[in-house]
Amino acid sequence: MTRTQALLQQDLRHVWHPFTQMAGWPDDAPLIIERGEGSFLFDTDGRRWLDAISSLWVTVHGHNHPVLNAAVKAQLDKVAHCTLLGQANVPSIELAAELARRAPKGLSRVFYSDSGSTAVEVAAKLAYQYWQLTGRPEKRRFAGLTEAYHGDTVGSVSLGGIELFHERFRHLLFDVERVPTPHAYRWPTPNVLDEALAAVERLFEARADTLAAFIIEPVVQGAAGMLVQPKGYLRRVAELCRAHDVLLICDEVATGFGRTGTMFAVEQEGVSPDLLCLAKGLTGGYLPLAATLASERVYEAFLGPFAAAKTFFHGHTYTGNPLACAAALASLALFETEQTLARLTEPMRVLAQGLERLSQRRHVGDVRRVGMMAGVELVRDRGTKEPFAFEQRVGFRACLAARDAGVLLRPLGNVLVLMPPLCLNETEAKQLIAGVEAAVDWVERNAP
Ligand SMILES: *Cc1c(COP(=O)(O)O)cnc(C)c1O
Repeated sequence: MTRTQALLQQDLRHVWHPFTQMAGWPDDAPLIIERGEGSFLFDTDGRRWLDAISSLWVTVHGHNHPVLNAAVKAQLDKVAHCTLLGQANVPSIELAAELARRAPKGLSRVFYSDSGSTAVEVAAKLAYQYWQLTGRPEKRRFAGLTEAYHGDTVGSVSLGGIELFHERFRHLLFDVERVPTPHAYRWPTPNVLDEALAAVERLFEARADTLAAFIIEPVVQGAAGMLVQPKGYLRRVAELCRAHDVLLICDEVATGFGRTGTMFAVEQEGVSPDLLCLAKGLTGGYLPLAATLASERVYEAFLGPFAAAKTFFHGHTYTGNPLACAAALASLALFETEQTLARLTEPMRVLAQGLERLSQRRHVGDVRRVGMMAGVELVRDRGTKEPFAFEQRVGFRACLAARDAGVLLRPLGNVLVLMPPLCLNETEAKQLIAGVEAAVDWVERNAP
């Protein structure tokens, strides 16, 4: 038995993988990753793979980056962890100031946690408590989009709108008002922008009195299948929120830190929400860390004499972890020293051209891209947009074919997801396209 086989056997015996049908594991040909370098990962058999999903949307400047390594090591020689309950630490202070400086105007307060799900939970609880503290406790419900993903904890699943994830937990979740996702490819008329906005307006006219907040993944709804909102949608939603006195929560857990071509996706719509959720790319993909940014208006509502108990009673044990904050600070600094955003022009051009070419293929229904985030939706029939059946796992099997080109892809249903690290160079971008092409070829040969 090889070392890889032995490890896999142990993995099967003891590790319960996320979002994974363990009965089919390891038939799914899992790789065991041993190290990384830039845009690549290396498995235990020494094979090199282009990490086209940034290790599930987190890696920003590449794996094993010397600057990030040094930042974490330097902090490690001082202290690995200390609490933010009743004390402060150096990197968490410096990072909060840096986030406030870079975030959209008005987001000056930073509440730390550990994951995207907790960043969303924190935002929801802040919004909920805010209206009690400001004398409108009847505003205690939430609204969001039908196809939305905000994480896997009970509160964040409630706020999300992915049917498949909801079904099992229906009775455990709180009820959320939904408006349809402005997804042009599946919208029944060409007038997606106006009709989708009208639905938000109708909802607010009827229910704003009861709504604490509207939550949205700005510009791109990642886990729903890289659904791209029409230009102007978010800006108008933000205006409607303001007009109807509903707080706006933007969940930039996926889109934050340059993925869409700008530091934050909300910048593309000139929007500054009341609450902004950040996680995934915050540490450059090094360590788990999340932040919920709040406006002064929200923050000030929580101030008062001790006895008034306006305090936000929430906090996770590892909140503000110094190692993670040090990594995040170094990652933010790299955006300048490496000119990360300016250097995206070339890889984005290669991706745009490659995807344009693939969009003509027989089983490619829709291609969507914003910056370095893209989705290729595979369909059974281009004319009718009929999807492949769930149980056929066409997306998954197509992604396995991409490995022939040395590319690691992971689908969302029948959507091939491209979410490469921002350090991707032109050659690597071409390899990524070759991987997608191999996946699309496989579908043409094997389409059920
Ligand atoms: C991934 C994701 C989350 C959840 O983040 P975790 O760190 O996995 O808890 C929340 N919102 C969005 C938009 C995401 O993409």
